[in-house]
Amino acid sequence: MAAGALLLALLLPSACGRRTGYLTDSFLSMDTVITVSLGKDTPDAEKIFAECRRRTEECRVIFDAHDPASALSRLNASAGGMTVPDELADVVSLAARVSEASGGAFDFTLLPVSTLWRNAEARGSLPTGEELAAALALRGAGSVSVVREDGAAVVRKAPGQTLDLGGIGKGAAEMTLLSYLSAESGAPYGVLSFGGNVAVFGEKPDGTPFVIALRDPSDPSGTAAELELSGGEFVSVSGDYERYYEIDGEKYGHILDPETGFPADGGLLSVAVVTHDGALGDALATALFVLGEEKGMALYRSEKLAFEAVFVRDGGLTATPGLAGKIRAAEGFVFDVSAP
Ligand code: ADP
Ligand code: MG
Repeated sequence: MAAGALLLALLLPSACGRRTGYLTDSFLSMDTVITVSLGKDTPDAEKIFAECRRRTEECRVIFDAHDPASALSRLNASAGGMTVPDELADVVSLAARVSEASGGAFDFTLLPVSTLWRNAEARGSLPTGEELAAALALRGAGSVSVVREDGAAVVRKAPGQTLDLGGIGKGAAEMTLLSYLSAESGAPYGVLSFGGNVAVFGEKPDGTPFVIALRDPSDPSGTAAELELSGGEFVSVSGDYERYYEIDGEKYGHILDPETGFPADGGLLSVAVVTHDGALGDALATALFVLGEEKGMALYRSEKLAFEAVFVRDGGLTATPGLAGKIRAAEGFVFDVSAP
């Protein structure tokens, strides 16, 4: 699994990309490589690793849209909604908030569109305009709501609507694991990586902050910047360089523009979001990639949602004011901290 770890959007810790001083466990779940790194003196690390795998699987069977037995697939198969586990209802509520705050850039009702792209890749030709129009017909996060009935959480949706929580589910699962690691496991400190989502907990014995490297999207072996994180912080990266559909030799990014159903092009190579809430950070990274820097900064300034962000363009990056002093751009990157 060491080779798999190199595929991560973030390298840990610092630019060397090696996790010395940690006990680590890597496994595949939720379509991504998950790595749990615990301080090297952590007692009972093997037990903690096993518990992390178990809890991850518990999350997967809720959020996995491609497993027909998952709670999400059952919700998708229902006509107009149904009672769901609280974990699913909470994530749908948060997804709806991000959708609203981002003016619809984050749209978790695009499952028919992403399924269309998957099929297009399999058959080797682009989706047609007609196919896209049909897949877009049922989109609209505004038709989805979460209500409480007799103490149970119920998600309502338009008949036939199907939800895709691929832009938020990994962050939600990561948050579940981080609360276990920081509050229950007994591990003093560590790092959790879910593909493009990384979180840290506790304090390192030497008191120094955790430093993670943001990958250079145009040179996957290079670094765009280094970012300092403190225990309890999450960073989520979205870009189109790592996951895409390949059709006729062309790459089509997996983050979709909800207006057109085509890959989003907000003018960014990638965007990193720093939060105290992993699900919010995951969803926002996807939303900001669609919005681009200017509209993304407007969302930041609106203070509707609490986050900091790094916008990565070709050869340059801009960080929001709260990251001043915590981020160092790599050589060759033109670096800017945006005015508050
Ligand atoms: P990754 O899954 O690689 O971590 P993201 O968090 O950015 O990347 O999520 C991308 C996934 O979100 C896509 O694979 C798809 O399932 C879903 N998605 C695509 N476009 C959107 C969008 N505009 N809003 C919300 N979810 C989206
Ligand atoms: Mg995301």
